[in-house]
Amino acid sequence: MSEGTLQVSSRVDDLATLASQLSPGALVTDRDVIDSYASDKALFCPAGRALGLIRARSVDDVVAVMRFATEHRIPVVTQGARTGLSGAANAIDDSLLLNVAGMNEIVAIDPVNQTCRVQPGVINQDLKTALAEYGLSYPPDPGSVAISTIGGNVATNAGGMCCVKYGVTKDYVRAMTVVLADGTVTKLGRQTAKGVAGLDLPALLVGSEGTLGTIVEVTLALKPALAPPITAVGIFPDTASAGRTVTEYMGSGASPSLLELLDGPTVKMVNDYGDFGLPDDVGALLIVQSNATGGGAVEELEAFQRVAEANGSSEVFVSDDPADSEMLVAARRAVGPAMEKYAHTRGGGELIDDVCVPRSALGEFFEKLRLIDAQFDVEVATAGHAGDGNMHPSVVFDAGDEAQVAQAQEAFAAIMQLGLDLGGTITGEHGVGFLKREWLGHELDAGARLMHTQIKDALDPLGILNPGKMFG
Ligand SMILES: Cc1cc2nc3c(=O)[nH]c(=O)nc-3n(C[C@H](O)[C@H](O)[C@H](O)COP(=O)(O)OP(=O)(O)OC[C@H]3O[C@@H](n4cnc5c(N)ncnc54)[C@H](O)[C@@H]3O)c2cc1C
Repeated sequence: MSEGTLQVSSRVDDLATLASQLSPGALVTDRDVIDSYASDKALFCPAGRALGLIRARSVDDVVAVMRFATEHRIPVVTQGARTGLSGAANAIDDSLLLNVAGMNEIVAIDPVNQTCRVQPGVINQDLKTALAEYGLSYPPDPGSVAISTIGGNVATNAGGMCCVKYGVTKDYVRAMTVVLADGTVTKLGRQTAKGVAGLDLPALLVGSEGTLGTIVEVTLALKPALAPPITAVGIFPDTASAGRTVTEYMGSGASPSLLELLDGPTVKMVNDYGDFGLPDDVGALLIVQSNATGGGAVEELEAFQRVAEANGSSEVFVSDDPADSEMLVAARRAVGPAMEKYAHTRGGGELIDDVCVPRSALGEFFEKLRLIDAQFDVEVATAGHAGDGNMHPSVVFDAGDEAQVAQAQEAFAAIMQLGLDLGGTITGEHGVGFLKREWLGHELDAGARLMHTQIKDALDPLGILNPGKMFG
């Protein structure tokens, strides 16, 4: 038996000590169950063999895990619902999986201060539903809204469709309680609408992907319930003209509540997946919504129609029927499963990219993306949050064909490089995780890389928090 195996065996024995410090049944050592928690939804990200899974029920459970991990120098991978698309929640060999999805209580809703306090495992949609009873809303709406947790949303700074008007997760985080690597529990931020005492530490934790601490409670700022939108759909001969429309429309000072793009191949996949009433045989579609009040919505969509037609749109449909709005949003949300279904017919490979470019560069982005599509022996289909310049080109390929896999990875890298070349970022909302950790170094300059390392070392001196993720 090797030295490494001996070490692991003694750690497994120690787990009995950990179990005695946790809520009854929180520690899971059944190999099949542990392995079923080993990965998120990303492709090409290794999932290791964890020592154990803790389904935390309380802050005390999280503290016990961190103290134990510090004492025994064991890596900890915090997990929410594992819907991530970057491998950030994947198991590492000999790690503890600290799953906080079961800590899912909405602790308080405060209509006067328009805030709520929630445990990290609350599902985003469940929070929205609870808030609606108070006439309040929490706008961030990732495509995974019905399945992802608020803790995961905060730890990845999740975006979504309404962000073009209402901002991303970070814009709503006021305060949080965090368990640090050594088990210290600390409250960061404040409950008030304003406050500038000290560094903005909650902002440091937002998007930190489980590498700096485990978030065990969050205070979120809320908005009054959002007004219902009206919707327009513009049909374009190609993605570049749709991209230029977005640039010009947003540049005119418009403030749509949603502005999404689907390219022709994506529209075909969605039509093949379900009947959402989308026209077939288009180069690209833009779906735009406005919920401006006092007649403003109609004006905004008329302005969209003018800009779209000036940029080559063959047709713009406008509807004030809420059923149409819901159907179009459902069509946009169906892109994920529709692409998955299509990818299965092509050998199952699908790499979802997440570059974000300045809105002013969208036309150029699509022109160059077409060249990448032509250069590699894979299919590229694109949808995304066009109003934010945040696009999700998906590379579809035969996962059983080595040559295609290599081509897919090259195309994926070329798309990230294109994003950087246009002054954008390698990830607008899905995060770095394992998938893009080599690329973070391309995006950051030397000073920012050093700051990342120093902050990581200060908060995680033993390097036990989600090692190998984000920090390459
Ligand atoms: C169909 C589909 C559509 C999606 N659409 C979007 C979209 O529109 N916008 C978007 O931003 N993302 C989207 N995603 C990606 C994903 O859903 C989000 O990243 C989501 O925020 C992850 O939440 P989760 O609970 O699944 O977290 P996990 O996947 O479990 O974890 C994600 C990361 O957060 C860390 N983490 C989780 N909980 C905590 C905690 N309590 N404390 C500290 N760290 C923690 C983990 O360590 C990991 O690094 C989509 C995913 C799918 C499958």
